[in-house]
Amino acid sequence: MTFDTLGLSEKVLAAVEAAGYKEPTAIQTGAIPQVLERRDILGIAQTGTGKTASFTLPMLTLLEKGRARARMPRTLILEPTRELAAQVEENFERYGKNHKLNVALLIGGVSFSEQDKKLDRGTDVLIATPGRLLDHFERGKLLLQGVEILVVDEADRMLDMGFIPDIERICKLIPFTRQTLFFSATMPPEIQRLTETFLQNPARIEVAPTSSTAENVAQLLKATPSKDYEKRAALRELLDNAEELQNAIVFCNRKRDVTTLFRSLERHEYNVGALHGDMDQRTRMMMLDNFRKGTIKLLVASDVAARGLDIPEVSHVFNYDVPSNAEDYVHRIGRTGRAGRSGTAYTLVTGEDQKYLDAIETLINKTIDWQGEAMDFEAAAKERKARRKTGKPARAGSSSNDNEADQAKPASRRRAQTKPRDAGNGVTEVQPAETESAPVAKFPPKAGKKKPADGKSEPAFSPGVHIPAFLLREPRPKKAS
Ligand code: AMP
Repeated sequence: MTFDTLGLSEKVLAAVEAAGYKEPTAIQTGAIPQVLERRDILGIAQTGTGKTASFTLPMLTLLEKGRARARMPRTLILEPTRELAAQVEENFERYGKNHKLNVALLIGGVSFSEQDKKLDRGTDVLIATPGRLLDHFERGKLLLQGVEILVVDEADRMLDMGFIPDIERICKLIPFTRQTLFFSATMPPEIQRLTETFLQNPARIEVAPTSSTAENVAQLLKATPSKDYEKRAALRELLDNAEELQNAIVFCNRKRDVTTLFRSLERHEYNVGALHGDMDQRTRMMMLDNFRKGTIKLLVASDVAARGLDIPEVSHVFNYDVPSNAEDYVHRIGRTGRAGRSGTAYTLVTGEDQKYLDAIETLINKTIDWQGEAMDFEAAAKERKARRKTGKPARAGSSSNDNEADQAKPASRRRAQTKPRDAGNGVTEVQPAETESAPVAKFPPKAGKKKPADGKSEPAFSPGVHIPAFLLREPRPKKAS
């Protein structure tokens, strides 16, 4: 199958050729002709399947006829996160380089006035997160009657993030005669209901059920003790010994652990960045950009921040924590092995993770191999029981330790420490001195990173990477809902 049989315009085909794509992916083969026929689409596909091009390419073809009017966008694409919205914009730039279309991005964290100006000029493609779109609408700066094509992307993610009421509201504000392209990796009942209400006789295209993990991703488990400093050491060992490690995303279950792990890796001189939901927009974009360009080689991330990100050629994924939601495992490891490339996913497993691991193996219908010895869950459970009897606080799996409390202080308040500190259990962890200037980590050559000889971390400077101030702030306590 080639792209030129799908009905795309010459301009779009030229851009596809320039992108170097030889063959359409399954979702593209299924969706593109149907979109061009002006049918509604229900696409059940994960990121990594070429889903974005399956709607951007035919939209560009359709948009070649007609023009935009002020404040009345012709098409609207809803994305759950700012990063995903920015990525779709990049796709329009890449594939639409032969078109003269106005593309506007409405996302939080960016000034309203700039966005208003773009809307006033007339927008062919409006890409937005639901909240910011409704803000503009309520301010009277946006009219939705002209929308001919509505795309709802990553609908199940929208559900997780509580956006469904916003989506319903937006769907009702757009003329009934529109064409709707709806994408979701999974179809929970709430999403099913939404598709029944807002799609008209859609063409259903399902490419890979969410439980299927890519064939070209090697998956491995690594048994590790549950104390944080031991887990961090286990991760470092994996990083240093992983074969053909080019770059990697390291996933944590909690935002605060993203910060702690980032700092620890940084202190050990890895070239590392971090991405989580509490970071401001500029910093998130900068991190992502540096990671894409290769200035940062490791990205420590939380699920919300990383879901759906299109980061080509990630060679490895490390699950620092076993995800408590089995589907997150599938999404996480889907960051590697994209578009036919091979990848490796390691998961650190502690004695407390049995039920989460079982849920993952049930979902993917596969037993994952251990690297080295398998975790003895029974022995770990006995040990926990014994600890409880002796009244010792069970610290396994806890994310807090003395060390972390110290790390959470702003740099200016931290005292320089040069002495090895006792991390408990007779094991010592060297805490290099902190400097006032933002240190920059280097990605070590394989197994070749140097430890600070004198116990002090050197403020090394490599192009463009520095620790943003937010990472030096205390993690915010969760708001009571
Ligand atoms: P997506 O599922 O949209 O996040 O796309 C995943 C990755 O696949 C992106 O890096 C795209 O650039 C790439 N891609 C999309 N379509 C094709 C194709 N037909 N051939 C090769 N790569 C593609």
